Amino acid sequence: MTALEREKIWQKDNRTRRKHFPKWQKKFNKDIRSKYLAASKAYPKKPKFPKTTIKLLESLYKEVGRDFTNIKKRTKSSDLTGREWDKSVNEWLKKEGFEKATDIELTTNEDIKRTIKRELAAGQDAGLGSPQITRNIQNALKQQGMVIAAFRAERIARTEVIGAGNKASFDSAMSDNGAEDFDKIWIQGRTVRTQRRQRHLDEMRDSNNKPVPLDKPFRITGMMHPHKGPASEVVNCGCTQAYVEKNPPK
Ligand SMILES: [Zn+2]
Repeated sequence: MTALEREKIWQKDNRTRRKHFPKWQKKFNKDIRSKYLAASKAYPKKPKFPKTTIKLLESLYKEVGRDFTNIKKRTKSSDLTGREWDKSVNEWLKKEGFEKATDIELTTNEDIKRTIKRELAAGQDAGLGSPQITRNIQNALKQQGMVIAAFRAERIARTEVIGAGNKASFDSAMSDNGAEDFDKIWIQGRTVRTQRRQRHLDEMRDSNNKPVPLDKPFRITGMMHPHKGPASEVVNCGCTQAYVEKNPPK
């Protein structure tokens, strides 16, 4: 596959991803902020957070993935239907989705605890009375919520939209015994904020030289497709993947 062909595929995927970013960024922003607000209201008691993040991930994956399940339109094997995709997301939610949601919520909880500790120490150092310290903590939580939510929501939305798209495209390629017909190539892409990663560039070069069987992991990262891996490989990664027919007709 030529560099131009790869760039075209990446551009197309990226245009589709970008359409989805703003909506989910807003939703995660609201979700994270609501937890700081709840903590502020409840203080000095502990707030009860509803488990909203897993629901958000579910709707994000189901919605975004639909735009990526049509990769085989022009070949003899068929794509994933909407219902099959929903089923795949439900499976994913049980382990990976659940872990992601837990991670997101834990990070929020940890930061809320840190904020309270910091304000408490500052208030005691300044010799403030406990009603004043309580008010300061409540205000600090509201403030901190706005700052942190804006920053984290952007990153989470970007990561999960890309993850949903890559998973849907991969599942679609695999459907209908796709592994018999297709190999895959890693396509390195950039994200808004970050540089390209050397490992992912190597992965692209390696798989472009010798396409990887669809049902085997990529040879350098050991991942099945970009964004299916540990956070260190996934956060700020803008890569996608392409599929090539195993035995192109001569
Ligand atoms: Zn990457």
